[in-house]
Amino acid sequence: MPRAPSNHVLDAIPSDVTHICRRLRDGGHRGWVVGGCVRDLLRGAPAKDWDIATDAAPKRVMRMFRRVIPTGIQHGTVTVMVRGVGYEVTTLRGEGDYVDGRRPASVVFLDDIEEDLARRDFTFNAIAIEPLAGDLIDPFDGARDLAARCLRAVGDPEARFREDGLRILRAARFAATLECEVAPATREAMGADAPLATLARVSAERVHDEWLKTMTAAKPSQGFALLRACGAMGVVAPELAAIGDDALDRSLATVDRLDDPILRVAALLMFVAEPEAVLGRLKFSRAHQTRITLAIRHHDLDPDLSGADLRRWLATVSKPHVDDAFDLALARATSENRPAVARARARARAELEAGVPLTTRDLAVRGRDLMHALEVAPGPHVGELLNHLLEVCLRDPAQNERARLLEHAAAARARRAP
Ligand code: ATP
Ligand code: MG
Repeated sequence: MPRAPSNHVLDAIPSDVTHICRRLRDGGHRGWVVGGCVRDLLRGAPAKDWDIATDAAPKRVMRMFRRVIPTGIQHGTVTVMVRGVGYEVTTLRGEGDYVDGRRPASVVFLDDIEEDLARRDFTFNAIAIEPLAGDLIDPFDGARDLAARCLRAVGDPEARFREDGLRILRAARFAATLECEVAPATREAMGADAPLATLARVSAERVHDEWLKTMTAAKPSQGFALLRACGAMGVVAPELAAIGDDALDRSLATVDRLDDPILRVAALLMFVAEPEAVLGRLKFSRAHQTRITLAIRHHDLDPDLSGADLRRWLATVSKPHVDDAFDLALARATSENRPAVARARARARAELEAGVPLTTRDLAVRGRDLMHALEVAPGPHVGELLNHLLEVCLRDPAQNERARLLEHAAAARARRAP
């Protein structure tokens, strides 16, 4: 039986969404707001994107609106554009058998919203609102579970996880982002053999996306601890499961102290022997792989290192990655050594502000200056000389003046000469 959602919930539905539902009704059909946006509405959070379910066939939806994009028409989804914003309008569907644990083998279109809700993953994701009549359709008591902060599979949990292994990762993600507990039967099914076997077939891209969404939680540790406890960690990232419980606990505590999702991945993987292997397999972008590996490799610095060593460290880390390395170092530091790390960071910032040379491009001379002044021919020794001058300047940045550098270069050549 439909219930009435409270007025503030209905009021939060944008008028363009109601407009789409009214147009569907005028065409003899129905439209419901469904999925993540209903969940977010009910918990008073801003909705990211608005999904509409309808009993109109996709081709019919295409004809009913002026600006439509056939985004996933074979699955029944068309995007209706209203004032520059896209709304996904999806024909009610049930799903045929899952043959590969990833995608349903066939899609059948339905005219019953409750059947459409029954194929969804968790009770709080299986709620619909009919905005014109103001009905709340909540056959699995998702609103109650949401209020109680309880994540519960729709229907038989093990069968649902077996259909689509990604749901195990989605469960962990929602447990973290919505700060909820997993209902006992759902939790048990997450660790059962058949669901974990299905998880092994989920694509790396989808694992990557769920990990990053988990990293937007206030405390991602809750989601990853769940993955460890149910055995899913060993399936998607055996290298991480292999570091052992104590190391993983330290990683997760560090993850929670950071904000940036990418840097949080660095914290998660900081004790893994070869983080590159995990990042590559999970299809992290090149830029993210660089950020993460540099932060992992260089964050563990001695906070009391000398000025020259600090500048050498800056040169190796390179300017764009210095903040990441210190953020990770601070997040990982114990309360005793945190002040020392903070002092090292202040010193590093002062060096960067002073513009100390950190690469050969920052030197007051170029290779051609050396060739000209020392009358040497082009060749690898010019690069070697520049590197030597950089080392001189890392030791003492005051040496970075043209005349002084030429003197150092001449002296170095004289020492080398037979
Ligand atoms: P978010 O948009 O924050 O990632 P969401 O719940 O909206 O979360 P979507 O991937 O946008 O997730 O999916 C929209 C809705 O589709 C979900 O709320 C759920 O009802 C359903 N859904 C999505 N993925 C699955 C899945 N793997 N199995 C079953 N139902 C799913
Ligand atoms: Mg969504």
